[in-house]
Amino acid sequence: MLLREDLTVEMLAQSGAEPSSGAYSHLVSTLSSVAGRDVGRSGPITIDGGARNWTAGELQSTADSLAVRPAGSATIRALFVHGTFQGSDRVLGVAVRGDVMAIFIDQVRKTGGLVGNSSGVERAVILHEAGHLLGLVDLYLNTGRADPDHPGHSSNRESVMYWAVESTAISQVFGANPPDSFDDADRADLARIKSGN
Ligand SMILES: [Zn+2]
Repeated sequence: MLLREDLTVEMLAQSGAEPSSGAYSHLVSTLSSVAGRDVGRSGPITIDGGARNWTAGELQSTADSLAVRPAGSATIRALFVHGTFQGSDRVLGVAVRGDVMAIFIDQVRKTGGLVGNSSGVERAVILHEAGHLLGLVDLYLNTGRADPDHPGHSSNRESVMYWAVESTAISQVFGANPPDSFDDADRADLARIKSGN
């Protein structure tokens, strides 16, 4: 379980693909708030190469080959890369394994630029993918509250776990003001997941 005592976010990034410090700090501080304790930071670790069309398997093997934190530790491995997920320029971020998320920074910046709020879009997408790794929404619990049309997502547009947050749909749905925090239901779920009940 990621919400254990030693929860650490490990950043792996290609050159020029690093997140803004504000967006990354928002992730770490939100995770600290959810975990009820300080969350560690590891990295940044450099991922060689440039833009490409990444597959889930390539993202996982990249994380595994470069990771500093040991396998089995409570680690969120956050990859920031150039290019696309499987050739789609609509995907801003993905969660590809229980401990591996990837942010397609060029798509994030392009979409953020369109709505005039790059940092807001970046904050939202990063926290959204981390939310999936923590088990939201109903990837771990079975509360029945997930959006039936978009499994794994909140039906509340004010939650960062709303489905549109991880694709270019974020610009059409939210314009310059995407949600960038967990809502009360998300936080209640995370509290349950953390306590094991
Ligand atoms: Zn999602």
